[in-house]
Amino acid sequence: MNLHRAKIDIVEAGRRVYGRGFVASNDGNISCRIEEDRILTTPTGMSKGFLKLEDLCLVDMDGALVSGQRRPSSEIGMHIFLYCQRPDVRAVVHAHPPTATGFAVAGVPLTACVLPEVVIALGAIPIAEYGTPGGPEISEPIRQYVKDYDAYLLENHGATTIGVDVMNAYYKMETLEHFAKILFVAKQLGGYNELNAEQVSKLVAIRDRMGLRGPNPACDIPDAPATQPASDSGIPTIRTLSAGGAPTAQTSQDDLIAEITRRVMEELKRGDAQ
Ligand SMILES: [Zn+2]
Repeated sequence: MNLHRAKIDIVEAGRRVYGRGFVASNDGNISCRIEEDRILTTPTGMSKGFLKLEDLCLVDMDGALVSGQRRPSSEIGMHIFLYCQRPDVRAVVHAHPPTATGFAVAGVPLTACVLPEVVIALGAIPIAEYGTPGGPEISEPIRQYVKDYDAYLLENHGATTIGVDVMNAYYKMETLEHFAKILFVAKQLGGYNELNAEQVSKLVAIRDRMGLRGPNPACDIPDAPATQPASDSGIPTIRTLSAGGAPTAQTSQDDLIAEITRRVMEELKRGDAQ
C-alpha cells in the first residue's frame, strides 16, 4: 500500500472519528499495514482530530518504531494481533463511539438481524470480553471472533473495526455506531422488529455475491440456533417481520401463560355469575 496515501487516509479518518464524537480527548487509534512487516499508526497522546502527516509513526511487527518523531499508539499490540490473525486486513480503527460503547458497557451485543445494510456489511457485532487497555489482555478475548467478524465491541471500553483499507475500516465504525443509535431509539419506542430467516438468507446471498465475508449465521435469527440469542440481549423483541413485510405477533412463553391465565379467569368469572 502506498505510504503517502495511507498517511492522508489516517489523518482524514482521525479527523472524522474526532469530529463525529467517536472519541474524546486523545482517545482512539488508527493504523494501516503498509507492507508485510510495516505498520503506519497514529501516535500516543495526541487528539486524532488534529493530526499532521508527520505525526504518524511507522513500526515493525513487534511494534518497534522504525521511523517517525513520536511514540506509537499504546494499543499497537491489538492492531498487530489483528493483522497477524487476518492477513487480508490492511487497516484497524479503534474508537469509543458513545452509543455503541454504551451497549458494550451494558453487556448488550449488536447481534440481532435488524438492518439490511448491517447484515450485509458486518453480519453482527459481538462483544469481546474486557481486557486491560494498552496490553496483551485486550487482544485475547477478540481471538474467538476475529476470523468471522470485522467489527467488535470491547466490553466496558469501546469498539474496533478492521478493513481492507483505512476508509473501509473507518466506515465500518460509522455503521457500527449508526446501528447502535437506531437500536437504542427502537428500544425507547418499545422494542424492534427482527428480520426473519428467509429475509436474512437473501441478504447473505447479496453479501456472498459482493465477495464480502461475514459470520455464519450472519446474525441472531429468531427461529434459528444462535450463539447469542436476542432474548438474552436485554432488549425486548416485539415481533418479527413476515416475508411480506407485515409484522406478525411473536408469542413468548410468558405471553402464552398470561393469555391462558386471562382466559381461565374469564371462565371462572363466568362460572360465578351463573
Ligand atoms: Zn480505547
